[in-house]
Amino acid sequence: MNSLLVKGSYSTSRILVGENFKNVWSYVPDGNVYIISDKNVMNLYGQFFKGKNIYEVDPGENSKSLMAVSDIYRWLLSCHATRNSFILGVGGGVVCDIAGFVASTYMRGVKFGFVATSLLAQVDASVGGKNGVNLDGYKNIVGTFNQPNFVICDTTMLQTLPKKELANGFAEMLKHALIADSKKFYLMEQEIDRVNGCEVELLNELVFRSVQIKADVVSADERENGERKKLNFGHTWGHAVEKVTGFPHGYSVSIGMEFASRLSMKKGLLTRNEYLRIVNMLKNLKLPACVNADLSEIFDALTKDKKRNGDYIDFILLNGIGKAVIESITIEDLHAFVFNSVG
Ligand code: NAD
Repeated sequence: MNSLLVKGSYSTSRILVGENFKNVWSYVPDGNVYIISDKNVMNLYGQFFKGKNIYEVDPGENSKSLMAVSDIYRWLLSCHATRNSFILGVGGGVVCDIAGFVASTYMRGVKFGFVATSLLAQVDASVGGKNGVNLDGYKNIVGTFNQPNFVICDTTMLQTLPKKELANGFAEMLKHALIADSKKFYLMEQEIDRVNGCEVELLNELVFRSVQIKADVVSADERENGERKKLNFGHTWGHAVEKVTGFPHGYSVSIGMEFASRLSMKKGLLTRNEYLRIVNMLKNLKLPACVNADLSEIFDALTKDKKRNGDYIDFILLNGIGKAVIESITIEDLHAFVFNSVG
């Protein structure tokens, strides 16, 4: 087991990679524990939590709502949960986001921790202290920054994760390698069969390296004023693709990473060989590199991105594999790139 600390402004989080989820009780204070999970996860792992106070949300993004959160507050009240209670989120990113938000707001905040059960939650959603819910079609528009006491990333739980969900996590894991860890990229290239086979020892190493990268960036810039923006690599074009096509987030980010890599190559920051290695890696991870959709619609969605800054959009590009840079690019240049560039 490998552990590291993520330092937030108000609290510090301990991330435990390779820890058995069954050891969770050694991290939770005695007594008053309230578990928030989803029905899929509890069908698979509920046996272990039998006899505890458990609230199960419906699986999926629709549960990230103020309505679901209100129901959880009511449940906590009916159970007489107090300021000294502890909330344990057991699930993927949806459960972590809801549980973190409920814990941060119920009675002005109670302590909380996570057992992160999806790859995306382990490498991304559970680390960094962001939590929240959606409102009127706006994603994560209501939320707080608050670090959980601990996060358990037990990679053996990924054996039960559907392949599509695994690919979502691989996209974020690859993103971390591309923006900050060329050695991790090389390791993934060399060991691609073991990666796809979810070999526990290798996954522990890869998840840990992702967590390390996210932890470093978050510790330097918890509130996304500068360095944390690098974590948006692939997300600017990816969000536009997601909006227009309704593709899963990881697939859209994957398409966004191809786009940003091609743009990096166009700007002379990435060699053609590096670009082709990235595209090959996407293919090997069963992630899409392109999309069959109307480019004008995607471009239109891109220009409406909330991160647009007047006539510019801050794009995260690669200055070689393993090094992200932030570049302000004019809408005009982007337009020319999108509609005139060929590979
Ligand atoms: P998810 O939580 O919906 O989980 C995906 C599916 O996998 C669900 O059906 C779930 O029930 C199931 N599942 C989870 N663990 C399982 C397991 N071990 N075995 C079998 N099935 C399992 O989705 P996700 O991809 O984990 O997370 C997506 C969410 O995370 C989004 O809402 C996104 O906004 C959020 N997110 C938050 C942050 C952050 O910093 N807070 C970062 C990235 C993503």
